[in-house]
Amino acid sequence: MMPSCKETARLLSQGADRELAFGERLALRVHLAICRGCRNVDAQIRFLRRAVQALSRDQDQSDTA
Ligand SMILES: [Zn+2]
Repeated sequence: MMPSCKETARLLSQGADRELAFGERLALRVHLAICRGCRNVDAQIRFLRRAVQALSRDQDQSDTA
């Protein structure tokens, strides 16, 4: 039932590309609740995703301006 850290890392990276299924999100949340290491990975992925989105948004604005 409990996903391993390896499985959790896979779900985290897939979550950046597609919507996870309910069971996948649930497994992810349960694992993140108990695993500090995977919470750090999750925080890093979220930070990088926001940074990439901010960069591409700036790029779009400079293209249309
Ligand atoms: Zn973990």
